[in-house]
Amino acid sequence: MLCPNCQHKESRVLESRSTEAKQSIRRRRECLNCKYRFTTYERIELVPVTIIKRDSSRESFDRSKLLRGILRACEKTQVSHQTIESIVDEIEATLQQGTSREFSSNEIGELVLKHLRNKSEVAYIRFASVYRKFQGIKDFVETLNQLQNNPLTSETNTCDDKDRQNANYNLVL
Ligand SMILES: [Zn+2]
Repeated sequence: MLCPNCQHKESRVLESRSTEAKQSIRRRRECLNCKYRFTTYERIELVPVTIIKRDSSRESFDRSKLLRGILRACEKTQVSHQTIESIVDEIEATLQQGTSREFSSNEIGELVLKHLRNKSEVAYIRFASVYRKFQGIKDFVETLNQLQNNPLTSETNTCDDKDRQNANYNLVL
């Protein structure tokens, strides 16, 4: 970074500190040539990510839209708002760290399901029903069967086998 005063290339850092929201770091610098003092800021660069929808149209990734979708699926479940926020954070980080700048809505949907899977079966089914556009009971039963064949691994699973069979039974009815 060039000194604003003499254009010299080197400076030393006198002080570094995080800004209040911890979103950036403020550095106080001194030019090694003319001793001029100046301030630089370092912040995380969020690269724009494009979502390709089912009808091939494109839109920018919208964090709040994703959040709303997951909130809706988790309504009246035990999944806390904080957990949902952290799911969205993780998905956003996954998108940011990928080599691609474009993702299909399908990929996003599967990412969400992967996260909801160990959190709540109800939220999982709800989200899957919207995003996979379930047409009828057959789709629910298939998804429930998939869940049954690959049981949840984490201790947050509150549904025992009997509950699952009942849920399945009710849906078949
Ligand atoms: Zn200088």
